[in-house]
Amino acid sequence: MLMEQVIPAAGGAGLHLKRGEQLRIIDPNGGQSGDLVVFSQDGRQRLSNGRTFDYGGKIYLSTGDVLWSDRSEPMLTIVADDVGRHDFLYSPCSLEMYRIQYGVTGYHANCHDNLSAELRKLSVPPDPLPTAFNFFMNVHVKEDGNLVFARPRSLPGDAFVVRAEMDLAVAVSACPASTCNGGAPPRPLAFEILRE
Ligand SMILES: [Zn+2]
Repeated sequence: MLMEQVIPAAGGAGLHLKRGEQLRIIDPNGGQSGDLVVFSQDGRQRLSNGRTFDYGGKIYLSTGDVLWSDRSEPMLTIVADDVGRHDFLYSPCSLEMYRIQYGVTGYHANCHDNLSAELRKLSVPPDPLPTAFNFFMNVHVKEDGNLVFARPRSLPGDAFVVRAEMDLAVAVSACPASTCNGGAPPRPLAFEILRE
């Protein structure tokens, strides 16, 4: 293992991954979702849920599936997954979202700001921020097209592992939206960087 780090509750973290290195994201308490955004190290390519749906043919991704860039290159491969349900439809929660949807006035911690701040620290301009891979976030698409949130399926200690397919700048956020976390207050996550 190269390093291990906590993602603070409602906070973010940033890291570099070299091609072939693996990122293991852990839910120490269970039931907590988070956001993952990756850019190529040169900032020219960003994660694309649309391209990932194109080449994978599905919206629920797990072990063996590839996360693609907006320039149609593989960025990450999911190589292990204790949980098996993640969302790749929703944008990161943002200050505007909390205001429009929940009537929040004043500042509210949000994944958009966490991810943007971490990417800037890695010298990658975050605008526009792509749709995040919302790991452990449990969203059902009903037959009529409506979207329903359920509690994340992650149990304490559950993890998923992605392998970098190119050199990457990576930002992660422990999502503070209680609707995505079974109504619970924000809790921390953790990650490790592993070599194959
Ligand atoms: Zn969020």
